[in-house]
Amino acid sequence: MTHWKEILQKSITRPAELARHFDFDCSALEAANASFPMRINPYYLGLIQSVNDPLWKQAVPDPVELSDSVCIPDPLDEENLSPVPNLVHKYPDRVLLLVASECAMYCRFCTRKRKVASDDMVITEDHIERALDYIRKTTTVREVLISGGDPLMLSDTRLDSLLTRLRQIPTVEVIRIGTRIPCTLPMRITKDLVNVLKKHHPLYINTHFNHPRELSPEAVRACSLLADGGIPLGCQTVLLKGVNDNAKVLKELFLGLLRMRVKPYYLFQGDLTRGTNHFRTHSSSGVKIMRQLIGTISGMAIPTFALDAPGGKGKIPLTPDYISSRGPDLTFHNYRGERCSYPENGDAL
Ligand SMILES: *Cc1c(COP(=O)(O)O)cnc(C)c1O
Ligand code: SF4
Repeated sequence: MTHWKEILQKSITRPAELARHFDFDCSALEAANASFPMRINPYYLGLIQSVNDPLWKQAVPDPVELSDSVCIPDPLDEENLSPVPNLVHKYPDRVLLLVASECAMYCRFCTRKRKVASDDMVITEDHIERALDYIRKTTTVREVLISGGDPLMLSDTRLDSLLTRLRQIPTVEVIRIGTRIPCTLPMRITKDLVNVLKKHHPLYINTHFNHPRELSPEAVRACSLLADGGIPLGCQTVLLKGVNDNAKVLKELFLGLLRMRVKPYYLFQGDLTRGTNHFRTHSSSGVKIMRQLIGTISGMAIPTFALDAPGGKGKIPLTPDYISSRGPDLTFHNYRGERCSYPENGDAL
């Protein structure tokens, strides 16, 4: 198998190169590419079947990114929630640690578009040390989420060193890695990498697939290797207009993930990130999709549909409302739309 770094080196980064693969005038893409660079590696390029298909939309710049007058650079207020650079502390018991500025592919809808892939996102060994110091002295932090960019862009040696230092902090119970690499460059998942990761259990991986066509044989192999290493796998999908905003596509995605031993964890409503407004759906559209899925397919395949509240206020589950009235009887509609009720025991709260 070709080494993942070699595959990455052959990535398309200029619209003109894209025109060699598709019958498409790419000159209009130059400006959007300059504001947020594209990187489409040969593996993901091979998954794109046609211009404007759901995979193209995730990877290829779109001129409308530049006319977004609704969204803002940092909707989750991550910069203000960072006590030290590249560490976001929003919840009492867990922190988000950004360890890499690059990804195997740049997603047009990226929440961290303001910094990922840009020269401003500098992560030095000194930053990492300061972040580790912060985690050491903030003993309420039980879980560290490693993200970026994509943490699996680091070499095995650097990852091992980082994980070893984290594991030396007695108050850190769980390590969670957020990575899109099983989807965007599955060749990065090797036996050597799994051998590094499995030394640091309990270690979870949340990956990120958005469309059933991303569940290729290579992605299946990557997830199997990780799962065989005892790493529980979750998936954080983003609801994207024109990509996956219908129940049929998401059903196929979630059931496919479940077969790959990946548990759908979150389905995210689009963040208000500048340059991504064209991907946003109305929140009722996601709720409607969830109502179509809950009960119809395995509960194991159902993620929590959630909105990450602007201003860093935290994730809010957006659940279909099943309850039609509360009284001596709780009345509700089930997944088939039948009216049912449940008698309360009388102990009002
Ligand atoms: C999403 C997020 C988390 C993790 O939230 P969970 O609900 O535990 O998955 C932690 N910190 C930050 C800053 C986040 O944005
Ligand atoms: S892999 Fe994640 S961090 Fe990287 S560009 Fe895509 S969404 Fe953003």
